[in-house]
Amino acid sequence: MMNDTPAKETSAVVETEKLSRVFELKGETIHALKEVDLIVKRGEFTAVAGPSGSGKSTLLNLIGALDTPTGGAIRVEGRELSGMNGTQLAEMRRDRIGFIFQSYNLIPVLTVLENVEYVMLLQGVGDAERRARSLEVLEEVGLGGLERRKPSELSGGQQQRVAVARAIVSGPSIVLADEPTANLDSANGASLLDTMARMNKQRGVTFIFSTHDAMVMERARRLVRLHDGEIESDETRTA
Ligand code: ADP
Ligand code: MG
Repeated sequence: MMNDTPAKETSAVVETEKLSRVFELKGETIHALKEVDLIVKRGEFTAVAGPSGSGKSTLLNLIGALDTPTGGAIRVEGRELSGMNGTQLAEMRRDRIGFIFQSYNLIPVLTVLENVEYVMLLQGVGDAERRARSLEVLEEVGLGGLERRKPSELSGGQQQRVAVARAIVSGPSIVLADEPTANLDSANGASLLDTMARMNKQRGVTFIFSTHDAMVMERARRLVRLHDGEIESDETRTA
């Protein structure tokens, strides 16, 4: 199971406290993230926006436990990441966090169905359940009937929808998507956002996605703007 760290009572899925990340590169010190305080609650559909270099990827990588902070704290479902060992962090990434990347990152030799089943295979979910859940999610993201294809036999927009299916199929607490529409044209980008929004609504999955695309920002319910590693504004839409 997860780990022994006691969970704090909270509806916050993600909580960062004075979160900082400093990179040292060729004698230069880069403050990629400066004491960022951010609370993301269950069910949010939140965009992190900002120009290139503002710290979006750094923030998402830290929340997803793909990177380690140089200062401050991150709690996912009330559990402090810094208190976890490597095994616990790997379990956290596998069981609680779904990732969607700019370049899809599907496994090319596997079929669409096998790509979606993969995490559940690692989790030890049985064959029949794995298959049923994957086919159901593929249907929901509009890819019913394409499950035997290889990723290379799909359009970019379709591949990214496979990535959405893969990210949500095992019921994560949060899905992190780093510029998920960056490689898509505007029609496919809009359709991807609609798919994500539908999964947010129907399945209650919490999404945090980064972008510098205005069309994507418009579709977010909450918009957190980063500038030079700091939160510049944080607005929630009432609709
Ligand atoms: P964004 O995703 O908003 O474009 P990043 O989070 O990638 O921004 O980068 C924020 C800052 O941190 C930039 O100045 C970038 O050059 C720097 N940075 C990011 N990753 C590294 C790294 N691994 N080593 C050195 N500097 C980095
Ligand atoms: Mg980035």
